[in-house]
Amino acid sequence: MYKTLTFALLLLGFSTWAQDHNLKKDYSSVENKVIEWRRDIHQNPELSNREFKTAEKIAKHLKSLGIEVQTGVAHTGVVGLLKGNQPGKVVALRADIDALPVTERNDLPYKSTVKSTFLGEEVGVMHACGHDTHTAILMGVAEVLSKNKDKIKGTVKFIFQPAEEGAPPGEEGGALLMVKEGVLSNPDVDAIFGLHINSQTPVGTIKYKPGGSMAAAQRFVINVKGKQTHGSQPWGGVDPILISAKIIDGLQTIISRETELTNEAAVITVGKITSGVRFNIIPESAELIGTIRTLDYDMQKHINRRMEEMVPAIAKAYGGEATIDIKSSTSITFNDLALTPKMVPTLQRVAGTENVVVHKAITGAEDFSYFQEKVPGLYFFLGGMTPGNTESFPHHTPDFKIDDSGLLLGVKAMTELTLDYLNM
Ligand SMILES: [Zn+2]
Ligand SMILES: [Zn+2]
Repeated sequence: MYKTLTFALLLLGFSTWAQDHNLKKDYSSVENKVIEWRRDIHQNPELSNREFKTAEKIAKHLKSLGIEVQTGVAHTGVVGLLKGNQPGKVVALRADIDALPVTERNDLPYKSTVKSTFLGEEVGVMHACGHDTHTAILMGVAEVLSKNKDKIKGTVKFIFQPAEEGAPPGEEGGALLMVKEGVLSNPDVDAIFGLHINSQTPVGTIKYKPGGSMAAAQRFVINVKGKQTHGSQPWGGVDPILISAKIIDGLQTIISRETELTNEAAVITVGKITSGVRFNIIPESAELIGTIRTLDYDMQKHINRRMEEMVPAIAKAYGGEATIDIKSSTSITFNDLALTPKMVPTLQRVAGTENVVVHKAITGAEDFSYFQEKVPGLYFFLGGMTPGNTESFPHHTPDFKIDDSGLLLGVKAMTELTLDYLNM
């Protein structure tokens, strides 16, 4: 309650920052280009850490605008630096540029027919998460801002990030590698903004959530050790499959009985169990693999600690042994509690107050979180569904579709967040 109140007061306090930047002409001249770039990138998708042609297109465009360009960052990433006419803070804007191993089923003039290999298999490649729109939007923002250096009090860093969907096994990549390679320093970034298009939110709508917006993802592996015996004589051994069942049951009670779900969502999922060879043998061991999703670090700590206590204890209770290994794969996409209310009036100005809504926590994860771990950031969602559409398809599916008419709002939002922030 206290948090909500403070948040509302901050909103009121900062609404005076809302100002018009007189960019109408620049927006209308860039809209068609953004749509063209988007369609071109859509038709030529590239998998994570393999975004060679996409990176070339981005670098060429930034150079044509007189922006200082660095290529090959975190493999195929492109970073542009635009200095304004006056000194000031440094804002980073991030777009992810990779596509997915999905075969497109849409009937579009710019449909992807690209094929590639993924984990040794031939796959179709498609921008089934909409990162083509993110790339085109940020190229558009670069164009508008480079024409308005006189309005920029500080520096803008354009981060075109590869491998948001995850680097291929055995490779590093994505936001974490970009941070490791120093993308947030030299010059040091003061704040970062990013967006994700959404196929199930109508064009014109912006959604955001202060605090934990998208979940931290962790992967766990549980190894259960029993004692092998004949399936007809269980008393002669220790059954690791039964122990696994008890462990799964126990883990779910951490969520349902110990986690304050009214504060934030939390999920434990066991996604894979491997054990046994045939029907009449009680095997020696079992392996359980799963994921944990949390939106609050205290909750994450509690859940992790209880899993570590419970897993060996349950195994012991049934005469076996078990170990658990938890590894974090993505942090919480956490919208800074000071920065977010300062920037909401900008979003309201570009989209219309009634079109800016607070969304519920999302248990999916996003590696933009690695930037937000280092610097205050705001990550929001942009509507990409044709207004009035009754049918929309989720991200990562062959029928996923984005309406181009939603892109300009993304350009406006990112451009004006930058200008407003640098003027604060
Ligand atoms: Zn995705
Ligand atoms: Zn995505």
